[in-house]
Amino acid sequence: MQADPITDPRARLPSLDRLMDDPALASLIAQWGRRNVLNEARGLLAALRSQLDASSVVPPPGELITALAERLQAVPGRGPRPVWNLTGTVIHTNLGRAPLPASAIAAMAAAAGSSDVELDLESGNRGERDQHVERLVCDLTGAEAATVVNNNAAAVLLLLNTFAEGREVPVSRGELVEIGGSFRMPDIMRRAGSTLVEVGTTNRTHRADFENAITPATGMLFKVHPSNYAIAGFHQEVSIATMAEIARNHSLPLAWDLGSGSLVDLSRYGLAREPMPSDALAAGADLVSFSGDKLLGGPQAGIIVGKRHAIEALRRNPLKRALRVDKITLAALAAVLRLYGDEARLPQEIPVLRMLARPQRDIRLQAERLAGPVSDLLGPNWEVLTVALASQIGSGALPVANLDSAGLAIHWRQDRGRGAATEALQRRLRRLPIPVIGRIAQDRLLLDLRCLDDEQALLDSLQGLEAA
Ligand SMILES: *Cc1c(COP(=O)(O)O)cnc(C)c1O
Repeated sequence: MQADPITDPRARLPSLDRLMDDPALASLIAQWGRRNVLNEARGLLAALRSQLDASSVVPPPGELITALAERLQAVPGRGPRPVWNLTGTVIHTNLGRAPLPASAIAAMAAAAGSSDVELDLESGNRGERDQHVERLVCDLTGAEAATVVNNNAAAVLLLLNTFAEGREVPVSRGELVEIGGSFRMPDIMRRAGSTLVEVGTTNRTHRADFENAITPATGMLFKVHPSNYAIAGFHQEVSIATMAEIARNHSLPLAWDLGSGSLVDLSRYGLAREPMPSDALAAGADLVSFSGDKLLGGPQAGIIVGKRHAIEALRRNPLKRALRVDKITLAALAAVLRLYGDEARLPQEIPVLRMLARPQRDIRLQAERLAGPVSDLLGPNWEVLTVALASQIGSGALPVANLDSAGLAIHWRQDRGRGAATEALQRRLRRLPIPVIGRIAQDRLLLDLRCLDDEQALLDSLQGLEAA
């Protein structure tokens, strides 16, 4: 039976075919693909049909298309989406670590088509991928040579497999760390084919511990930055300079997994100094590995710097081929490294460094500007306060250092149901077209504003809460 369009508004909804033919849908189809748009359009029409009754007004076509765009945005599983990182953790692994500088984003787009990734334009012969960044990395670290792989975990795997496959590697018990996300140093060593020889104790390792562990089966010496944890109190580690002396005496290569590995002295920005690759090389390490997307502020990559013959040995390992980076990563990394040529401008140019260097009073003023509008959006059940907060660097850099920060604390006014209401609000924020990611502490939703650069854009995103 046909529904009567006069008495039944459901009949005034467009058919699926008519909706799909609307020229205004062309851009959604270009963005999401015809199949996805069709699925969501079908879902939207079905939802509307079940909600409408005889007295309802049928949404005009413009509103249907906006609703469809929102549905398409909100469906997971179609690729990473931008989010607002208001967690207070600047380099957040679950949120994609370092946001890239504008010049790196432009370089990625420029390299995305055909590019000279492995072509030597001078000779016309096959080129070496590493050449796009090697000179820049060497300039900044004082290294003889450098190579780049997929991430620092891959760098560690390649180092161990190249120099210690089927051999022993003594490592201090204080450095046998789990980085998170199932990266445990002993597991990686086993997969690299090396045998871990634990030396020293959790809190103290001495020179003699290493010297006594070296046998004819030893392949290399290896030092690991303890990354996301710190030992305080009665504590002793063997310095890289001492390890270099031991390695030299036994003609063994020495590598240091630095983890975050900053290319600038962070004390310039009021942070504690992290060991830099250049320090590690100057102290006698043959090889140093570090991440591209931690304190460096670039794309995901593992950078290894060191002696030329050692880097060449890494390049000859067939695993290097399996761990190599793509043209997009190389383009972004080269662009970020070029920015390091002008130290004075680093905080302006590199988002990670800008966020780390932001003074608390700046962030507090921003919180004060946002508190009113956010309170208006949330309505009278919520109290929105400007509060002092402590941000973290994240990703294993200076794990005990807190950065004085500020933000909004959002508090359900009634005692009853506060926990559930706060969690529900957090969920609503995660469901926005550009999700807002905060954290809950003591039944308050905290939005740390250290990583917020465009406050108007955040407010625009939050407008979606009214609908949610
Ligand atoms: C982060 C880290 C790694 C892993 O690096 P990814 O770039 O995440 O693969 C390895 N070692 C240390 C010490 C780290 O801090």
